[in-house]
Amino acid sequence: MDQIERLRWLDRTVVWHAFSQMAEYDGLIIEEAQGCWLTDIEGKSYLDAASSLWCNMFGHRVPEIDQAIQEQLGKVAHVTNLGMSHPTTIRLAERLVEVAGRGLEHVFFAGDGASAVEVAMKMAYQYWRQIPGSHGGRTKYLTLGDAYHGDTLGTVSLGGISRFQKMFEPLLFEVVRGPCPDRSRRPEAMSESEVCEYYLEEYAKLLDAHAGEIVAVVAESCIQGAAGFVMQPRGFLRGLNQLCRERGELLILDEIAVGMGRTGKMFAFEHEEFGGERLSPDFVCLGKGLTGGYLAMSATLTTRCVWEAFLGRREEGKAFLHGHTYGGNPLAAAAGNAVLDLLQGRVGLELIEKRGIEFGKRMEALRGGRGVRDVRSLGMMGGIEFHRDPAENRVGSESNRICKKVLNDGVWLRPLGDVIPVLPPVVLEDFEALFRVLASALDL
Ligand SMILES: *Cc1c(COP(=O)(O)O)cnc(C)c1O
Repeated sequence: MDQIERLRWLDRTVVWHAFSQMAEYDGLIIEEAQGCWLTDIEGKSYLDAASSLWCNMFGHRVPEIDQAIQEQLGKVAHVTNLGMSHPTTIRLAERLVEVAGRGLEHVFFAGDGASAVEVAMKMAYQYWRQIPGSHGGRTKYLTLGDAYHGDTLGTVSLGGISRFQKMFEPLLFEVVRGPCPDRSRRPEAMSESEVCEYYLEEYAKLLDAHAGEIVAVVAESCIQGAAGFVMQPRGFLRGLNQLCRERGELLILDEIAVGMGRTGKMFAFEHEEFGGERLSPDFVCLGKGLTGGYLAMSATLTTRCVWEAFLGRREEGKAFLHGHTYGGNPLAAAAGNAVLDLLQGRVGLELIEKRGIEFGKRMEALRGGRGVRDVRSLGMMGGIEFHRDPAENRVGSESNRICKKVLNDGVWLRPLGDVIPVLPPVVLEDFEALFRVLASALDL
């Protein structure tokens, strides 16, 4: 067996890959990367059009991020977050608070997105038990239909995608689940604002029916990623924020996929702040793009009000007894600081917003493609949804087929059910390389 064959064999038989049927596994093995391009062990190059699963924001081997990590390596790679800290991590917390504003003044670091959501869930739960009043009945989370917040049992409980949940059903806790606020699936006669009203009424009813029982309302901001890049009607998130404020409920926004500039704003919920109104989430969860796709780090931002509920003398037992070994890791924080430098400097949100408009136009042009049911995008984040092949009627038959086809032409995309997410690094300049291949695969 030659070296390459051996690697492929080990990768299929020893490495257990995420979300993969290992009996049929056949993945790329990447040797190195530069900018938006990945090169495999045989020297073949692929455009990384899924940003290494939604997290690589500025391409690979970004000089600023590389340098920040190297400089940090010259100091220390890791110090624990339990009773210790590091200037790089402290600086990142300060800067995240600065860019978040809106009363989000405290940052809890963890290693991945699911953990950031778990942190918010547990903080919210404990919060109610440490403020005056009897809130013991608050044991449920209100979540959106088709939600996805990660793969730990807590976040799977919040999730609403049955193919991820079914197997573990007996282990999951009960949640209150509303409908999936999908602006593209609406009766012909209803406008987007009418459909928004409809969903908000449904959520108002659920909140009223479960008054005093809800720990927190949990929602992905604007786009429900794993649901298939489902876009909420304009005004929905702001309306949901309003419902929470009126009723004194806590709101957790999951910005893991959409935050850190991906949609042309620092946070996707800013798209809902039209007319000068500001949203006021109690928790914002960040992950994925936070380190530009370099290192595992996530953050849960919260308000002074939540923070203060946890203060007291040690014997009162109000501390948050939760932590992750690598929470606040300085190497990852160095990457995070470099990402903020890029978003506030060389790359800049204005440029991403401008590119996003061009990207959206290119995406729209795929609408007439073979088998295409819908095309949606926001900023540098898009999805192509396919009709299900009536002969096969199997989830993802068409999206899988197209992904295989474009791979042959040097574009790496990964299907998600009947949708192909398209989200190249936000710095991709050569749209032609991507959209020519996509158009051809869709017979355009
Ligand atoms: C990816 C994702 C998560 C989970 O993040 P991990 O780092 O994979 O644990 C949570 N929420 C959303 C919206 C995501 O897209």
